[in-house]
Amino acid sequence: MNWFNRVRNSLAFLPKRATEKDLWVKCPGCQQMVFAQEYAENLQVCPRCEHHGRIGADERLRQLLDEGYDVLPQPEVREDPLKFRDTKKYTDRLKQARAKNPHRDAFTVGSGTIEERPAVVGVQDFGFMGGSMGMAVGTAFCQGAERALTRRCPYIVVTAAGGARMQEGILSLMQMPKATVMTRRLKEAGLPYIVVLTDPTTGGVTASYAMLGDIHIAEPGALIGFAGQRVIQDTIREQLPEGFQRAEYLHKHGMVDMVVHRHDLRDRLATVLDYLQPKVAA
Ligand SMILES: [Zn+2]
Repeated sequence: MNWFNRVRNSLAFLPKRATEKDLWVKCPGCQQMVFAQEYAENLQVCPRCEHHGRIGADERLRQLLDEGYDVLPQPEVREDPLKFRDTKKYTDRLKQARAKNPHRDAFTVGSGTIEERPAVVGVQDFGFMGGSMGMAVGTAFCQGAERALTRRCPYIVVTAAGGARMQEGILSLMQMPKATVMTRRLKEAGLPYIVVLTDPTTGGVTASYAMLGDIHIAEPGALIGFAGQRVIQDTIREQLPEGFQRAEYLHKHGMVDMVVHRHDLRDRLATVLDYLQPKVAA
């Protein structure tokens, strides 16, 4: 290689080759390096330790719904009504989150079919400000339920949240009763409401729509709870059992109906939909 080629190849504006960082993913469960493509093909589940990684809304909708589903437009809500600022302005935090995410907020609704059974699926994305529930999330949840009511089909919600969005104060807490009322409306209309709890589902979301399903499914190893383990331990001054607040523990103690591997989730949902809404014989 002559000197010209050597210099040209080292220039920064040349197309970036896949770096080692793009090719490998470090599994948060076993800390081993996994080939990124293998990880993606395995639906972001570690092929070595079965750790279920966190996934975004679009990826989740693609995994659960049949091709050709609609994504509902994100609701327009009044932004930053409290003019909130901590170390940063809330509006700046929103801008930052939107720059890294294809959606305007943490809850996205897809309307379509699961193995040909009609369903509306709402997905909360932990990648957007920790999946926190503010007015946009509450409103999108309700729009999903409205769509299910219009289509007269089941509503499935995949939860992941650190809790209420503190930057919206009491307005974020008001989303809890608002969402709860919608689950009642689904019940009154005789439509199934199914919750898929993923890692982590905590705080105000657990205290409202995440625990009001007709059926609760959880992904293996998911952290599900209201307050954190350390807070509870310090309050009651007792050591908590091993695996407390994990999907398997909650299943054993009756808080969750089934723990389902991500590979089986779509099939299992289709089966549950069949049980809850038997096809009417033509
Ligand atoms: Zn692993």
